[in-house]
This record gives sequence, structure tokens and C-alpha cells, in this order.
Amino acid sequence: MASTLSDRLSRLVKTMRGQARITEGNVQDMLREVRMALLEADVALPVVRDFIARVKDKALGQEVAGSLNPGQTLVGIVHKELAATMGEGVADLNLAVQPPAVILMAGLQGAGKTTTTAKLAKHLIERRKKKVLTVSADVYRPAAIEQLKTVTKQAGAEWFPSTPTDKPRDIALAALDHARRHYFDVLLVDTAGRLAIDEALMAEIRDLHAAIHPVETLFVVDAMQGQDAINTARAFKEALPLTGIVLTKLDGDSRGGAALSVRQVAGAPIKFAGVSEKIDGLEVFDAERHAGRVLGMGDIVALVEEVQKGVDLKEAQKLADKVKAGGFDLNDFLSQISQMKKMGGLAGLMDKLPSQMTAKAKGADMDKAERDVRRMEGIINSMTALERRKPELLKASRKRRIAAGAGVHVQEVNRLLNQFEQMQGVMKKMKGGGLMKMMKRMGG
Ligand code: GDP
Repeated sequence: MASTLSDRLSRLVKTMRGQARITEGNVQDMLREVRMALLEADVALPVVRDFIARVKDKALGQEVAGSLNPGQTLVGIVHKELAATMGEGVADLNLAVQPPAVILMAGLQGAGKTTTTAKLAKHLIERRKKKVLTVSADVYRPAAIEQLKTVTKQAGAEWFPSTPTDKPRDIALAALDHARRHYFDVLLVDTAGRLAIDEALMAEIRDLHAAIHPVETLFVVDAMQGQDAINTARAFKEALPLTGIVLTKLDGDSRGGAALSVRQVAGAPIKFAGVSEKIDGLEVFDAERHAGRVLGMGDIVALVEEVQKGVDLKEAQKLADKVKAGGFDLNDFLSQISQMKKMGGLAGLMDKLPSQMTAKAKGADMDKAERDVRRMEGIINSMTALERRKPELLKASRKRRIAAGAGVHVQEVNRLLNQFEQMQGVMKKMKGGGLMKMMKRMGG
């Protein structure tokens, strides 16, 4: 796997030990790493050059000059600049027109247009309480029309039938007429895609656009396309006044560097991200969060949210108070373990952590880790209430009894007690807050 920018920079920062401050010379070294990381994340070369020039300007300014930790400061600047390049905040759909608001979906075949049309329908119904109609203007592939029908039904929206012998613009106009007469709030128009850009296709979609005057023209692009995404984006921008981008398949291996290129070239904000094949696999695009992903910092925000969801806040507070009072016992240890399980297990959690923190953990066998957790639970469950509160009571004979009860060797009981002591130590150092604080710290 390619190294992340954070990995690269932290290595560099180590080699720069002794150079407390940033200079013209070492900024060059750092920017070379930034450049490599962006290229590895599939950001297009011209976009990278431009980006580096902007970061360099900022890095050589005061922000870094006085900093004691140039590497971290630079990562901070890069992160901010990435987010700014991909768009500030969240760009919503513009539906402020006389209904029905028409949304035109454009993009290559396989980009995810049909899937995204249905996902958007569901989003508009559930989040914005809209009455939604979909129609397919793909007259070349009857299967595509059927596919839209199926997924529209899944989304709980209505579907307008198309006749493959009609012209795309006539189909769209008929759907628009139907939408008006039946008081739909939104009409989503799915279009034909080709495997590559072709002039006839572009002329057709331009014609379609001119006929139905969409308030949103969304360019749907596959994040896995990497460098090619930039050419596709350019061609669609030349043909159509794009108002937004949907970046699909962000759940794949890609680091999502395409977001940076596509946004720049298409000159429109990224509004949504496709994150699974399923109908609910659509997220409102968050540039800040995505910048972290491109940087290889993991999806920290998602992690913190998940932790907050999974952890009972009252429990966490009780625990914090106990730790403060020096009373963290095996019961608490057990509750920490089960909280981790609530959060979707270790494997799910690891995926969301920055790679430099989990490089070791990722190499380990996650199934084994999950088994270990269950086994630890088994051991603690074999102890009496008193033993859990006072682990110091656990001498050889009690340990043998517990091991037999849990069906493990005595060594495993010892190992668990060691881990408990270590955790107790860590918790004391953190002065309360337990898991919550630990997670927040990871995020910071
Ligand atoms: P279209 O030709 O542009 O209409 O593309 P489709 O909607 O038919 O999608 C092509 C393939 O990509 C299908 O297998 C979809 O299930 C898949 N797909 C679309 N969006 C996503 C996504 O966000 N994540 C994943 N994993 N697959 C997606």
C-alpha cells in the first residue's frame, strides 16, 4: 500500500531532528513528500503543481516560520488547503425554484448515474420530504431503463416509463409534463452514458439540457477512475454548465484524490459522495472530512461520532469519576471491552483510524483480536464480584479456578491481569474520561 502523507511527513520530521525550524531548504523536502503523496492518492499532475505552489506560499509565511514542529504545522496547512480546494463546508442541492425542480444526471457509463439517481431520490424523500419522480433518457440500453425502474421502487419514489424509440429530449419533456400535472417537487433525469467521451453523446445531452432547463446538472464520476477522471470532467464541463459533482465508489480502494482534480477542473462543488452499492450509500460530501482521507488520516470525524453513538455517556462519566478516585477495577475493564464491541468490533474501528497508528494493528490478524476480546470477557465472567473489584485477591488457587471456569490456561488469566494493569496505568495518566478521551486524543 502507498504510504500516506502523514507517514511520509512524520518520517521526514524524524530525519530533521535537530532542525527545530523550517527553512527554505527543508520546506522543499517536505513539499516533495506532499507531492508524492498527492500523486499516489491519484490527484492529477497539473492540480498537484498548482496545489504545491499555494502550500509553499503559506508554508514560507509566518504560519510555519515560528513553529517548533514544522512537520505537523505543514500537515495542518496541507489539510486546510486540501479542504479549501475541495470546497468549503457543505454544498447543498438548490431546489429553490418553481416545482418541479429538475435535476439532470450526467457522466460516463458505469460511473454510477442510475444508482445515484435512486440514492438521491431516497435522500430527497427522507431528508427533504419531497415527492420525487425519476425518468431514464437512456434510449440505447433498455436494460438501463429497467434498472432505473427497479432502484426507483427501492427508493420509494415514482418512475416515469420511457419508450426507447423516442428521442431523449421528448422523453424528458413528457416526464416533466407529468411531474407538473401531478405536483412532483423534483424530477430526476438519468441519461445515457458511453464508455468514453464521444461527440454525439455530448450533443445529445446538451440538447436535453436546453430542453428541460435543469436547476441542477450533476456530474457523476467514479473516484476509482483516478487520473482519467480529469479528462472526463473537462469534457463534461465544456458541454454543460455543471452545478455539482457526485463522487461515487469512495468505499473502494481509492484514496479519493480524484476529488481534488475533478472539483478543480469541473469548477463545481462536490455535493455528494457514493459510499456503497446500496440505496442508502450516499453521503452529503464533507470537504474537511475528505481532506483527512486523502491525507491518510483516517476518517477521524466518523470515528468520533461512532464512539459517541456507541458509548453510553453516563457510563463514561461514571468511569471517569472512578478513575479519578483510583477505583478502576475489572468490572470497568469488562465494560470498556463491551463498549468496544458495541462500536462494531475492533476491525471496524481499526479501519477508521489513521494508518500510522494502526500500521502494526492492521498487520495483525483481526479475527484473532476479536477472539481474544471474547476470551477476555469469558475470563472476567468467571470471577466473583469481589474478585473483579479487588483483583489483588487473585492468587494462584483463585487463578486456577477462574482458568478452569473459562476453559483457558492460567497464563491467559495472568496476561489479562497484566493488560488490566497497563490499562489502569494509562487511564490514571489520562486523569479520567476513559475511552472517550483516548479516542479524542487519537483524533487530535
Ligand atoms: P451508470 O452506468 O452510470 O448508470 O452506473 P450504475 O448506476 O449502473 O453503476 C455501475 C456500477 O457501480 C453498479 O454495479 C453499481 O452498483 C456500482 N456503484 C455505483 N455507485 C457506487 C458506490 O458508491 N459504491 C460502490 N461500491 N459501487 C457503486
